Order: sequence, then structure tokens, then C-alpha cells
Amino acid sequence: MSVLDGKPGPVDPPRECPACPRLVEFREELRAVHPDWHNAPVPSFGAENPRLLVVGLAPGMKGANRSGRPFTGDYAGHLLYQTMLDYGFAEGTYEARPDDGLVLKDAMITNAVRCLPPQNKPTGEEIRTCRPFLLATLAANPSITAVLALGRIAHETFLTALELRRAEFPFAHGAKHDLPGYDLSLFDSYHCSRYNTNTGRLTQEMFTSVFDKIRRHLS
Ligand code: SF4
Repeated sequence: MSVLDGKPGPVDPPRECPACPRLVEFREELRAVHPDWHNAPVPSFGAENPRLLVVGLAPGMKGANRSGRPFTGDYAGHLLYQTMLDYGFAEGTYEARPDDGLVLKDAMITNAVRCLPPQNKPTGEEIRTCRPFLLATLAANPSITAVLALGRIAHETFLTALELRRAEFPFAHGAKHDLPGYDLSLFDSYHCSRYNTNTGRLTQEMFTSVFDKIRRHLS
């Protein structure tokens, strides 16, 4: 029996999901200042029956929170979507807009926490509260066999969601963890943020080497 057994609930929260008061208050404030932004839970984006699930921690303020599509509109999206295009996980042209016509192939992108948290830092309680949507996404897509965690916190959040011990699967860029009890392998990468790429913590070569491993795994 795993946490994915049973009937999956909704894979995406409603636009007015009331479950995290701090995040609801924050999005209401932003709606007043930026009425043209999405400012709501961000649904997953991807293909039917994906084999790859990319998991970020939470929407970025001027990225997914503004555009309404994961990793779309901020710096991190450029490297992520271009790499997905290069590796055949996307088709079209990424233009940092949800209506750019880009489609994902065999892949889906989601966030463990669907609403924008202040300072990009969700609390443990908020991560727990949003967990059913992550689990429902996995349960509703049994085709997923590879998960790419972008950053240590996404990695740890994912393990906790599956009730696996973090200490047994330590985060390391480029690592692959076969998860016992699940037909899933978890791949780790440093987050493709501007900070990480500007400081050299994550280079394009380092990022593509993770996708090399994922492609080998899927083939
Ligand atoms: S973070 Fe998730 S659970 Fe919390 S309000 Fe947003 S959608 Fe709802």
C-alpha cells in the first residue's frame, strides 16, 4: 500500500483555494496591485500520459504567478524550457508567454506548492497542505517513471510526500534515486535560477547532463 493508492482527488486546486491563509492574503494583495497577473494557484502544465514529471517548489512572483504557467516568464524558465526543447520534451518555441504555443511531449511540469509564497519560502504547513495535489498528480499519471526535482527543497518535499526517509536519498546534483515501493526514479538538479547560473553553481552543461541521464533512463 503506497500513498498513491486509492482514488486520486483533483490534480489542480481551484482558483480560489482557501487552504493557506497566508498565501491567500498574499495573492489578494497582489491582485490589487497587479490585476492583470494570474495571482492564483498555478495548474500543472504538460502532456497526457507523461513519463517525466518536473517538480519545482513554488511559483515565482513574476514567472508562473504572473503568467499562470509553471516556470513561464522568469529567468528559470528560459533554461528549463530550452533544455526540454533540446531533449525532445517540448515542441514549438518558448516565448515566455502561456500563449506561445509551446507544448510538452512526454513530460509535465508542476510545483509542490501551487501558490506564490512570500520570499519564495513556503512554510512546512503550506507544503503539507498543498501535498494532496502533488500526490493526485502522480496518482492520476501512472505513466510517470522519472521525476526531476529542481533544487534541494523540491527534492526533500517530494520524498516526504511519498513518505520516504530523506536521509536515505540525500540530495546531490546529478544524482538518481530509485525509490523503493514506487516505479519511480528521482533525479536531482540544482535549481535553474538566475542566482545559481550567475554564480556558476549550475552551468548549462551541468543541467544538460541531468537530462542526458533522464533520456537514458526513459529509453
Ligand atoms: S498553496 Fe495549495 S493548498 Fe495552499 S492555498 Fe494554494 S493551492 Fe491551496
